[in-house]
Amino acid sequence: MSDKITIALAKGRILKETLPLLERAGITPQDDLEKSRKLIFNTNHDNINLVLIRSADVPTYVQYGAADMGIAGKDVLLEHGGEGLYEWVDLHIAPCKLMTAGFADKELPKGRLKVATKYTGITRDYFMKLGRQVELIKLYGSMELAPIVGLSDMIVDLVDTGNTLKANGLVPQDFIMQITSRLIVNRASLKMKNKALKQVIEKIENAVKQPEQAL
Ligand code: AMP
Repeated sequence: MSDKITIALAKGRILKETLPLLERAGITPQDDLEKSRKLIFNTNHDNINLVLIRSADVPTYVQYGAADMGIAGKDVLLEHGGEGLYEWVDLHIAPCKLMTAGFADKELPKGRLKVATKYTGITRDYFMKLGRQVELIKLYGSMELAPIVGLSDMIVDLVDTGNTLKANGLVPQDFIMQITSRLIVNRASLKMKNKALKQVIEKIENAVKQPEQAL
C-alpha cells in the first residue's frame, strides 16, 4: 500500500482556481470543498487527503509535515520564509500584484511613512531597498480601511481587479511584485514518502502543463 499523502489547500480565492487544477490532475474531493464546513476531505484516491485551511497557515502545515504538500501564494511563502519546505513549481494560478496603494491626491509626509499591511516582511524589505523610513502597522485584513480612518498613510496589499481599492476611494500606486500560487513540499516527506509523493507531484505538474480546454 502506498504512503498517505496530505495536501494543504488555501480557502478563498486560491481554492476557486485550485479545484479545476486538481480535477485535471485526476484528484477529485469526495465533498464540495466550497460548501462543506469540514476541514479534512477524502478524495477518489485512497492515499490522498486534503486539508482546507487559511492561506497564511498552509506553509506552516507543510513546514511541520502536518501536510506533505500544499498550495500557497508567493506572498504567503515570502512572509513565512520557506523553512522546512521546497517551493516546487509555479502553478500560475490566482495571479495578482502586490502593490502600494493610497489616496490619489494626498501628499505623503516627508519623514516616516505609516504603512498598514498584512505583509510586514515583504514591505520592510521593499522600503529598506528604497532607503525609505517606514513605520509598519500589522493588520490581518481590510487594509483599505487604514488610510481612510487615518491609521496609515498608505497600504501594501494584493490587487487583482482593483475593485476593492476603487470602492474605498484608493488607487494602486507602486508595483512591488507579481504573485502566483506555488506547489510546496515538505522536505522530510520528500525523502520518507518519495515514491508516493512524486506520483502526486507528477499528476499536478502535468495538470499545470495541460491546457484547460483539454478536460
Ligand atoms: P480586487 O478587488 O480584485 O483587486 O481584489 C483585492 C482584494 O482581494 C484584496 O483584499 C486582496 O487582498 C484580495 N486578493 C486579490 N487577489 C488575491 C489572491 N490572488 N489571493 C488572495 N487574495 C487576493
